[in-house]
Amino acid sequence: MRKVTVIPGDGIGPEVTRAALEVLRAVDAPLEITEAGMGLACYKETGSYLPQATLDRLEESDAALFGAITSPVTYDASYRSPLLHLRKAFDLYANIRPVRRWHPSIGLVDLDVIIVRENTEGMYTGVEREDGEGVVTERRITRRACQRIVDKAIEVCRAEGRRSVTCVHKSNVLRRSDGMFREIFRERMKDSGLEARDLLVDAAAAAMVLQPNKLECLVTLNLYGDILSDEAAALTGGLGFAPSVNLGDRFALFEPTHGSAPDIAGQDRANPVAAILSAAMMLRYLDLAPMAERIERSVTATLGRGIRTADAGGKMGTREFTTRLIEVLGTL
Ligand code: ATP
Repeated sequence: MRKVTVIPGDGIGPEVTRAALEVLRAVDAPLEITEAGMGLACYKETGSYLPQATLDRLEESDAALFGAITSPVTYDASYRSPLLHLRKAFDLYANIRPVRRWHPSIGLVDLDVIIVRENTEGMYTGVEREDGEGVVTERRITRRACQRIVDKAIEVCRAEGRRSVTCVHKSNVLRRSDGMFREIFRERMKDSGLEARDLLVDAAAAAMVLQPNKLECLVTLNLYGDILSDEAAALTGGLGFAPSVNLGDRFALFEPTHGSAPDIAGQDRANPVAAILSAAMMLRYLDLAPMAERIERSVTATLGRGIRTADAGGKMGTREFTTRLIEVLGTL
């Protein structure tokens, strides 16, 4: 039996992970599931945002399903994001976000793209310093990170039957750093059997709206990937429909793209689809693809019957939506 650690976290995290767990139970997924703490509520309870016990549990697991966490509201110089810590500790260097419309009536644009985002460096080093006149932000990009993110995009593309990979960069301005990324992309793609394309990040943002069918898989650096994947989610129904995985070579942490949404937390208003689809992605990673497909089909069928939460123009709460989805699942 595969071992999975579930980290509900804060805000709507517990509500959407509960829904995902109900769906996993409904398909009889052969998983040994344990829960672990992380985030603000965990800090209030244990004095730690990321207890050693959680790290130990993750170490023993095959994968993790994570909800969302809330960062402390007041500035705390000693605060380190537990999620960043996990990305580093487990070397989760690829953030993969498959984005598509789960029903033709949801979203604005017929986009069906897999975004493969470098997850460990670039603008997210957090290294900034005052230089008297302003602030300098360090942005470091290494050859190794470029190589392995491109290789991961090739692997994902092949597994998903996609034919082209588009490298998204800004090498007309950032000639050396983004230029290097683009060069490495061209080199790694040569014998991949896939078509290599590239786009400047601004052109890619426009292409998502104007020529969505030209994009199959994007591979890109940290900041561009962050922004483009939110754009892609907005075009296909919103954050409530966007699953993701933080992937390394030995571990994977699955999570909805959205945050802890404190504005709607505890009100039974969260859309659980992103968490449910993240759980489906996890099943595929754990070699349980038929179960994943059944869950994905149930999402489309449920939406097709007009069953929706408020963010998608419906009236249902998180719990009722989940119950109805599980009913639909039972008919598939
Ligand atoms: P955080 O700082 O944790 O990222 P945030 O509020 O800045 O939190 P999100 O949590 O992603 O960012 O929320 C952005 C907006 O989208 C909020 O108005 C939130 O209510 C809404 N939202 C996010 N996720 C969902 C969801 N699953 N269902 C419905 N609305 C959502």
